[in-house]
Amino acid sequence: MPLLFLGKEGSGALPLALAFAQYVMCQKVNLPKKSSETTSSLFESSLFGSESPSSAKEETATLPLEDVCNTCPSCLKMADMVHPDVHFSYPIVPKKSGQAIICTDYITEWREFIKSYPYGNVYDWLQFINAENKQGNINVHECNDIIRKLNLKSFEGGYKILIMWLPEYLKEAGNKLLKLIEEPPEKTLFIW
Ligand SMILES: [Zn+2]
Repeated sequence: MPLLFLGKEGSGALPLALAFAQYVMCQKVNLPKKSSETTSSLFESSLFGSESPSSAKEETATLPLEDVCNTCPSCLKMADMVHPDVHFSYPIVPKKSGQAIICTDYITEWREFIKSYPYGNVYDWLQFINAENKQGNINVHECNDIIRKLNLKSFEGGYKILIMWLPEYLKEAGNKLLKLIEEPPEKTLFIW
């Protein structure tokens, strides 16, 4: 099951989820590699590491994973939180009472919040969107929108990712997602 749990609120789960999503999407990481290239780049890094303490050398040698480039179109979209194949769900409150809202209605605030308070908690977030004393949740409309979005073809031909911040705010609406999680569309990752 393509479902990853990255820990609880306040533990840095969100920055970790974003880093992971960037890694999955980075075009440099996902370039088809020839084995000779991998070997030569490892050889280079061990040359560069020759004057560092031995622990650093070992680290280089045991980390064959390519790092994200921070310069490809995917990385730039991730930095701006506008990658069309990376979707976010988080607790929200209606802007007017009785209004059917989805997380996309708060996407501008969400992007600002993550950039300003990557380690913020749900209280910080609800303050940020002026929820006052209203209880946030991930509602049934959002669940329907998740199902709709993840059943679309990926915009850029790669993975589709849903990052859900604080899934405990799903409550009973979460039952709607069970089938999607059990039988996810092709190349779809859930990070909760
Ligand atoms: Zn990149």
